[in-house]
Amino acid sequence: MTSTTQQKANSKLLVRIIVALVIGAALGMLLPQNFMIGDTSLVSVITPFGDLFVRLLKMIMVPIIICSLIVGSSSISPAHLGRVGGKAILFYAVTTLIAICIGLACAAVFAPGLGLDLSDASKAVEKAANAPSMGQILLNIIPTNPFDSIAKGEILPIIAFCLFFGVGLAFCRDSKDERIKNSADTVFNLFDGMSEIMFNVVRWVMQYAPIGVFALMFVVFNKSGAAAFGSLFNVTATLYVGLAIQVLVVYTAVCALVGLNPFVFLKKVRPPMLTAFVTRSSNGTLPITMQSAENMGIPKSVYGFVLPVGATVNMNGTTIYLGVCTMFIANACGIPLTGNDYFTIIITSMLAAIGTAGVPGAGALMLLLILESVGIKVSGSVAIAYGMILGIDAILDMGRTSMNVTGDAAAAVYVAKTEKELDLEQWNS
Ligand code: ASP
Repeated sequence: MTSTTQQKANSKLLVRIIVALVIGAALGMLLPQNFMIGDTSLVSVITPFGDLFVRLLKMIMVPIIICSLIVGSSSISPAHLGRVGGKAILFYAVTTLIAICIGLACAAVFAPGLGLDLSDASKAVEKAANAPSMGQILLNIIPTNPFDSIAKGEILPIIAFCLFFGVGLAFCRDSKDERIKNSADTVFNLFDGMSEIMFNVVRWVMQYAPIGVFALMFVVFNKSGAAAFGSLFNVTATLYVGLAIQVLVVYTAVCALVGLNPFVFLKKVRPPMLTAFVTRSSNGTLPITMQSAENMGIPKSVYGFVLPVGATVNMNGTTIYLGVCTMFIANACGIPLTGNDYFTIIITSMLAAIGTAGVPGAGALMLLLILESVGIKVSGSVAIAYGMILGIDAILDMGRTSMNVTGDAAAAVYVAKTEKELDLEQWNS
């Protein structure tokens, strides 16, 4: 399929999902609770259609993380890991850490999902009692048997193993020994191919999304009525406040720190921001981000590495989204989060960003991963809350993708300026 045909198909699907969300919500509100058809309640007939959608998503979660993390981490060539690469990666890590903290702080202030009451108190208690200590969380990141972790769906150990594997693969692909290089390239192509296959499967699963979203929306609106609208509005507003802080405070501070005018940055970064907003794809926006880097006077030797790698591993907007939405789901389902949970969310979100592909909707799959990593099982009320988020994912994805590309551009500016390679004339015009 050509990319234009693909884009048309995507936007048709988006319309179908939004229509399904509206119809599901409207019907859920209009029909009385416990509406019966013969002996069975309508909710119990519709619920499995939503559950099927969540199961399909969970089915593809682990294979997708494995493939995209290995491809993502091995795409950073060690040959490029000189000063420029090192600086860029440090910049990604610090801004991503700040982004997730901003996401969690905004969610703490605005408390999205609170009052929705999809709760299942018994689960929450069980979860709190099983909480490991912080030291144990860190130790548990390293799997004793990666295959066991894969089989059990233990997210952090899987991520850790894939990162080791990916970086090892990157070194082998750079080897001077032809035999090692060729076999490493074969392994890379295998995972790259598998990742493409998985994204095809995602596309098929998404064809079912309108039915799944309809079912999930019907159930939640039938149960919670108008309160659900307020919650969806609240989670969207919380995310956008977080994104605004990231761009207006963090990136502005970065510019000021290296002695550049933040307003010029904000003006020059507008084209990729807008393109990302409408395409919802960092990868698709890459040519425009590169063009804007040229306009900022960043040399190709810097942006040629920083931007493509950034589009793969640096996802500041997605991390804010992960923090906000995890808290939305926890609030909506009455699941208390402990200090250790927040710590796990921070680590997992930072790592998940690396595995988030720069394509529409990829972050929503990563949200499943964050939930699982803090022991929140995606079923029952959690699946319903997740379905609500998925129903408005397009709106959330626009903002987070826009921020993802802005973060990449900020990284390129930072590296170029501190390496004294920035053409400052472009900043005076
Ligand atoms: N759509 C985002 C991007 O392309 C990824 C995500 O879904 O969070 O950057």
